[in-house]
Amino acid sequence: MTCPMLHRPQIRSLFVGWTIPCLMLFVACGDSPSPRPDPPLVEGERLGTAGAHEHGIARLGLAVDGARVTVDLELPAESVFGFEHAPRSEQERATAAEALDRLRTGGARLLAFPEGTSCALDSAEVQAPKDVEDDHAEDQHTHEDEGIQHEDVHLLASLTCSREPIGQASLRFADLLPAVVQVDLTVFTAAGEAAGRVAPDASFRF
Ligand SMILES: [Zn+2]
Repeated sequence: MTCPMLHRPQIRSLFVGWTIPCLMLFVACGDSPSPRPDPPLVEGERLGTAGAHEHGIARLGLAVDGARVTVDLELPAESVFGFEHAPRSEQERATAAEALDRLRTGGARLLAFPEGTSCALDSAEVQAPKDVEDDHAEDQHTHEDEGIQHEDVHLLASLTCSREPIGQASLRFADLLPAVVQVDLTVFTAAGEAAGRVAPDASFRF
């Protein structure tokens, strides 16, 4: 009497065991509705401690959502302005203001997009150390020599492209941020994610 009860789960699992491969075969070999996009590709050194502050190294995240691209860039203030303290002269103040302005308007120029795709800046937000942005900040940084305080600059930009920017692309840091020598790049698309430490002019695939 108890035998059928005992066997039922076994029979069911056997059935499930066959159903899934059959379904997968059907999906894989059936009429493909559209070519599956390749996942992004970044050929670089594996990323170590993410988010670490290293002069000359920028952390860049690129996320593709249809024709929209989000650019999330974080890097040491030193790699943007050439210094990492509150501006001490009119010249340093002007240098900082100009660099921040370039960053605010230049998000789309950090990249060369796949051929035939053009992308324009929708919006951009730059976060900089408060004492750099504030023109009226008194020089409260007489303690710099006692302990070095590191500061980052953060750019969050949103771009709209003429089409979904899938394909071969490259970084173009030289114009906008020439002090950057390496980029910790992470790329997200609908097909997956890729990351690596690369050169500031490296090629990658969205
Ligand atoms: Zn620093």
